[in-house]
Amino acid sequence: MSLTVVGSLAFDAVKTPFGSRERMLGGAATHFSLAASFFDEVRPVGPVGDDFGPEDWAVLQTRGTITDDVEHVPGGKTFFWAGEYSDNLNDRVTHVTDLNVFADFQPKLSPAAQECDVLFLANIQPDLQLGVREQCHRARFVAMDSMNFWIDSAREDLERTIRSVDCLILNDEELEQLTGKPTTVAAAEEILSWGPRAVVAKQGKYGAALFSDAGFFALPAYPLAEVIDPTGAGDSFAGGFVGYVAAQGDEPIDHDLLARAMAYGTALASYNVEEFGTERVARLTADEVAARVADLQRMTRFDLAPLTLRG
Ligand code: AMP
Repeated sequence: MSLTVVGSLAFDAVKTPFGSRERMLGGAATHFSLAASFFDEVRPVGPVGDDFGPEDWAVLQTRGTITDDVEHVPGGKTFFWAGEYSDNLNDRVTHVTDLNVFADFQPKLSPAAQECDVLFLANIQPDLQLGVREQCHRARFVAMDSMNFWIDSAREDLERTIRSVDCLILNDEELEQLTGKPTTVAAAEEILSWGPRAVVAKQGKYGAALFSDAGFFALPAYPLAEVIDPTGAGDSFAGGFVGYVAAQGDEPIDHDLLARAMAYGTALASYNVEEFGTERVARLTADEVAARVADLQRMTRFDLAPLTLRG
């Protein structure tokens, strides 16, 4: 299988209760690629500027990620985002979003990127996501993410893009904001009526829930006593989740397979938050991923014998 992703390639300035970074490698497609590279060959699509240095290319190329579709724009500046987290780390305020080279980007995918089996539209302008989606005719599974910034500034494009994919992965509050529904369940049902056959509601430190026509499945987040920087957790989750789907070959992509994929997403996200930016996942090993998935299986075991109730 092969996996293409379009999304932000960025520099981030981040402040958390545990420290700050003025400028670190980030971006939705970067975090996604690092996580998904455990499962398949990944091809990120997007532009970077002159400020994207050799060490940034090297991180992006971790575990064989192919950067042929990452376009260097001479004279340009890489996307920049600055954000700050609340004391409990579950709320975040955006201070700066500078699209820079993304503002005029017209995605033209190489034949190899167009012929992907699985496509992920990571967070970026919805019209760019749709432009890439329309070039990947062969993809048997297309998933996407977005965020409140695009719900506020490009809602129509976003709705059009959502209608073209198989699976929407979004924070629970953003699902409610997007649909105007008061509960995540009602919001997910609304999105399923638009066309996607699955919705994943990310719930921050509480985990994630899967909704499809075949039912519901939820996993808590991996229990961690210390979280240093949540930036990219959602993209790492998506990288583990979508990467697992890509690694299953021709197996039918049904509710059961997506539920299993949630465990890999949860494991990758949990490692991501242990350090700033890409630091932890860039040097993560396959054995560590497998160990955490095994832990999750053990911890969430739910195997009750039947009981006759009174009344
Ligand atoms: P996450 O924490 O998973 O929501 O993703 C954080 C990453 O998203 C950061 O590395 C940012 O560079 C990137 N990001 C922030 N705002 C945007 C935006 N409006 N569009 C695309 N990417 C963004």
